[in-house]
Formats: sequence, C-alpha cells, structure tokens
Amino acid sequence: MTAKKTSRSAAPARPKVSDYYGCNVFGLETMKLLLPKATFHKVQEAAAKGERLDLDSANAVASAMKTWAIQKGASHYCHWFQPLTGATAEKHDAFIDPTGNGKVLETFTGAMLTQAEPDASSFPSGGLRVTFEARGYTAWDPTSPAFILESETGSTLCIPTCFVSYTGHALDTKTPLLRSIAALDKAALGILSLFQSDAKKVVATLGAEQEYFLIDKEYYDARPDLLLAGRTLFGAGSPKGQQLEDHYFGAIKDRVFSFMTDFESESFKLGIPLKTRHNEVAPHQYECAPVFEEANVAVDHNQLVMDIMKRVAERHGLAALTYEKPFAGVNGSGKHNNWSLGTDTGKNLLSPGATPHENLQFLTILVSIIKAVHTHSLLLRASIASSGNDHRLGANEAPPAIMSIFLGAQLTKVLNDLEKGAVTKGTDPQWISLGIDQIPAVIKDNTDRNRTSPFAFTGNKFEFRAVGASANNAIPMSTLNSIVAAQLIATKKEIDAALKKGKSLKEAVLGTLKQYYTDSKAVCFEGNGYSEEWVVEAKKRGLPNEKTTPSALKGFALKKSVSLFAKLGVLTEEETHSRYHILLEKYAKDIDIEAKLIAEMTTTLFVPAAVEYQNELAKNLAGLSAAGINSPAQASLLRAVSEKVERALVAVDELKLALGNAEALTDVEDKAFAYCDKVKPYFDKVRVEIDALELLLPASTWPLPKYREMLFLM
Ligand code: ADP
Ligand code: MG
Repeated sequence: MTAKKTSRSAAPARPKVSDYYGCNVFGLETMKLLLPKATFHKVQEAAAKGERLDLDSANAVASAMKTWAIQKGASHYCHWFQPLTGATAEKHDAFIDPTGNGKVLETFTGAMLTQAEPDASSFPSGGLRVTFEARGYTAWDPTSPAFILESETGSTLCIPTCFVSYTGHALDTKTPLLRSIAALDKAALGILSLFQSDAKKVVATLGAEQEYFLIDKEYYDARPDLLLAGRTLFGAGSPKGQQLEDHYFGAIKDRVFSFMTDFESESFKLGIPLKTRHNEVAPHQYECAPVFEEANVAVDHNQLVMDIMKRVAERHGLAALTYEKPFAGVNGSGKHNNWSLGTDTGKNLLSPGATPHENLQFLTILVSIIKAVHTHSLLLRASIASSGNDHRLGANEAPPAIMSIFLGAQLTKVLNDLEKGAVTKGTDPQWISLGIDQIPAVIKDNTDRNRTSPFAFTGNKFEFRAVGASANNAIPMSTLNSIVAAQLIATKKEIDAALKKGKSLKEAVLGTLKQYYTDSKAVCFEGNGYSEEWVVEAKKRGLPNEKTTPSALKGFALKKSVSLFAKLGVLTEEETHSRYHILLEKYAKDIDIEAKLIAEMTTTLFVPAAVEYQNELAKNLAGLSAAGINSPAQASLLRAVSEKVERALVAVDELKLALGNAEALTDVEDKAFAYCDKVKPYFDKVRVEIDALELLLPASTWPLPKYREMLFLM
C-alpha cells in the first residue's frame, strides 16, 4: 500500500481568522444584534441564574435563531447532547411544517428550542429508566451557544442540551457538569466572602490540550482492530519508533499541515479558540490546545474538537485517532486539563495576589484543593478510568494511576513554613516575602514543569494530566469541581467556627490551613511519578494505586463519593450508582469486543497467512532434501512458524473459554472483573505469537498494514 502524497504548492490565500471567527455560532453578539433589547437581557439573566426562559422570550430567540440558521443554509435543527456513551448524540429535524396545500413553511418555536423528546431507550441509563418509561427529554442549555455544523451537502443548527429521563434523572454528562459548576460557584463565593472580595460569580475555567494520532485512511480501513476497537491489537514494533526523539516539536509535514489548517478553520468558525499546534513525541502524534474558556463551553468545545478533527481528517484521506493507546511501544494520547477558578471581576483565584488578603485567600483555596484531592483521590481516579486509559496510567509515559499533586519547590516551602508556623523568607532576590500571607507573584515562573505528575500546579492553574485522550471531559471536570466545592464549604465552616471563638481572620485561616495541610500533605509529591520508588513510597503514604478500570471505578461506589455528590446536588444516589454501572458495563463491552477481534483476526487472517507460508517452506524443504541439500536453518524457520501458529491457536482457544465464562456472568461488577482478570491476560499470550510471526512471514503476504507503514508513511 502506498500513502498519498500532497505537495505544498503555493497555498491559496486564506481569509483572516478574525473576519470569520465564530461565524457559525449563535453567540451573544449575534443575539444582541437579532433580538429585541429586553429579550436579550432576559436571555442573559436566565442563563446567568440557570433559570428557565419564559415562553414569549423563548419564541423570540427561536425565531431569531431560525432566521439566522436558514440564512446560513441550515435546513435542519437538532438537540445536541452527551449521553453516557461518552460520545455526542444528535437527532435531526427539518424546519419544515406542511401548510396543507402541498407546500411547507419553515418553523421553529420556543418550545422546539427549549425541549425535545428523543427516545431514550437505546442510550445507557444504568437502571435509571425502566423500559416502559423510555421517554427522555433534552433541555436547552443557554450557557453554551447554539452553532451550525456544516457539511458539504447540508448544514444543521445544533442546540447544546441536557438529557434527562422522564423521572428527571440525568442521563448525560452535561447535567452533572452544570450542577457542579453551580455548586463550585456557590462554595467559592462563600470563601471569598471572608476576604472582602467584590466578586459575585466564580466560574471554573478549562483549557484542554488534546493529543491525537493521524494515519493514512487506507491503513486505518485495512485494520479491523483500529476500526472496531480504536487500537491495534497486534503489530510488531517498528525498528524505528520514538527512540530518536525526532518527532516532538519537529517540522510539520505538508499533508498534516494542510489537515491542521482546515481543522483549525472549521474550529474557528465554531468559535473554538485553538491556539497551539505541534508534533508530539510518538511518530504521527500531534497536539492541539485552545485558549481556556468557562468549563461548560470548554467541555462542549473539546467534544466538537474531537468530532471536527475526525471529519476533516477524512476529507484529507487521513484518520484521526483519539484513542488512548492506538499503538503499543510508542506513547499514548491524553488530554491535559488546565483548570482554574475565575471571578466575574477578572481575577484568577489560583494566582497569588498583590495584597495580604488576596494571598490568604489564595492559600485557602490552594490548601482546600490539596485536601480535596487527598480525601477523594480514588474518586478522582475513577473519573478518568477507561479501558483505553488503563494502557497509559502506570506505563512509563503518562502520569501514574496514583493521584498526587505537584506544587513546585517554592510553594512547597511556603506550605511547609505554614505548617511550622514559620515566616517564609526568600532565598533569591526575587523571592522577598514578608510572611506567609505575601506570596510573591514570581511563583508562576518558578513552578518548574514536572511532566510526571497527574495533577500539577503550574503557577496559576492546575493541570490534570491523567485524563484519557478520548474521554468526555465532563466526567473528570464535574468530579474535580465537586470535590473542590465540597471542601471549600467545609473550609468555610471551619474558619467560621474559629472566628466565632474570637480568633482574628488571619489566625482562623492559618490555623485551619495548617491542620489541613498536615492531614493531606501525603498527596503532595515533587519527585518522579514514573519511578518504582514512588509506587513504594505512595503505598507507605496510604495513597491508592488502582491500575485497572474495574477497581478504579470503585471510587464511584464509595459511600463518601455518593454522599458528596448527593449533598452538593450534583448527582443523586441513584445517578451515581447508575454511572458506576454504566462505566463497568462499558469496560466489559470494550474488552469483549477486543477479545472477539483477537480471536477472529488470529484464525481468519494471521493463521491462514502463516499456514500458507508454512506449506511453501515445507515444499521447499522437501525439494532441497530431494536434491540432497542439508538446510538446518530453513528447517528451523519452518519449525518456528509452525510452533507459533500452534501456540497462537491454543491461546485463542483458552481466550474463548475465558470469554464464554465472562459472558455468562450476570452481575455487572463480577463481569467487569472477569473480563479484566480472566479474559484480558490472554490478549498478550496471543499477540506475542502473532507479532513474532509478523517478523517471520514475507512482508508481501502479511495481511495488515505494519506499524512502520502506519507510523511513518504519509
Ligand atoms: P503550556 O502548558 O504549554 O506552557 P500554557 O500554560 O500557556 O501552556 O497553557 C496551557 C493551557 O492552559 C492553555 O489551554 C491555556 O489557555 C490554559 N490556561 C491558561 N490559564 C488558564 C486558566 N486560568 N484556567 C484554565 N486554563 C488556563
Ligand atoms: Mg501544558
């Protein structure tokens, strides 16, 4: 197979980004332009307060949206939502409404905008929805703007929505995310009220760096494992992988560059602020990063980024892979979730401030986050668990499955001083501090980068680096928001109690933080997260290290997790249990698909190719021996091929037996663990033999594209 070539001849002039940025978004500017002033204000107010819009205003918005969308060529609209499959979902309806005389009118009403009723019965509900109540509702989320998805043959108006069951239970990832954002707002404002802040709103901010692979579409289509499981289940390593370290930040190839510019302009049209692009560590691996946004919009945008990336890649004859570990032996892909808290007054609450008050406030929030991660580290781990991410966490390329926090040397010193009740003194001239409540702003430049930490402070934000590349970011983000919100509420309570006892604000705050830091500093780790020593040390510190999805997901089943979500109003008890179930089920299904593929590919692709070669070798040997030529090396080649075929077939039989046993289980927990502990171990047993055969058989007869082709040709 040969890869397509494109050359970078004189590029067509592209329009200036600022001229078309956001042109397919029904954003504030467009609304302001198209709506009566009073309606516009009502929409803004309803969005800010999370309230329902009155019907008249909804009708006005719908009418403006329809006119705008039709002008832009949209014939259909859809409620765009994020069910618990992890993907996005959309059901399109035409704007048409028959008038009775054989004609139609385009209609779109406030009712159509605000609510729809897609049949929910084919989406996972984890027991939340009994079949006779299959109805599900989507409800407009006015905090994330509607947008138009263009394709070559038609355009669709997409309305971001929440997806709930007839009984009001969240069947999606957006609903809890929105609830967690509201809970965090309230909890953070509680803390700010201690520090004379004039902020009226606090939002979680998110900048999600996204890693991905690009390979030629022909190779992708020829690999059933990539097509159905998202990853290669077989493949002998290429002699050249990433060992020369020549891909990271390397010059971008023409064909990739042409994909990237198209992908970016499609994203810009949708108001997605993609800022950075570069080659990543593994061959054919890339990264893009947007400027951060309010977390709800950022999550929607990340879902769109993955979607647009795949569509645009197809146009270029490429396949974009967001799976966590598509190729063994080279790096996998993650998301780096840069997360912080911002106020309506423009302050970043994770920036050390200019005044003692601001710095006390910064420390209060920082230490609360440390305590939250320490208390709920298993829940945080659960929020990023997936069969794909299991291949990364704990492997020496991605942050480990142990949740820990990196703070940097200076902040660590500040906190250690706080614990001792000492005054932090600077050692270098820039670090002139007068006390614990005056943290120099230079800290931003002094938090060096520890790439091995799953949760690192990077000067004015945390970077949650353990998230899988294909994840729906709403799950880790709603979890992070929730654990921090719960802790901020507890922190406020503690400080209030000390104030009541007559302590000064500074005493009350420092006393509380000192205790918290002592309780939770075990989660802080500055060293190499990839090292074996850390695994041993973390165990001593009592930090969980759950390496597989079924055991990590238990984080959702813990009593303290269930009650955390329930108390905050993020997820009811049933909703948390349903998520636990759905994610376990999803894991079992993922492994089931892989197991079946491994068995089928082995028996129908690799073994036939190997047997054919075996026959040829046997014939050849017979001929040689008839001619009286002794050829022991060729005989041993034949023996090697036949032994590997034999062992592969035996392993497949064992795999099938284990698979049958796992399939027969009915309890969802038992099933997930059986797939993990009983079925999955056979994957490598089969693969070892097949990968060895790949290196013995004639390249021209190998039935699939090889690693060296997929990862190096383009
Ligand atoms: P790098 O980590 O590559 O040095 P930056 O630190 O500039 O790059 O930013 C990485 C990501 O962090 C970007 O998406 C950026 O927008 C985001 N980011 C910066 N500030 C914040 C913030 N306050 N909240 C959330 N994300 C942020
Ligand atoms: Mg970064």
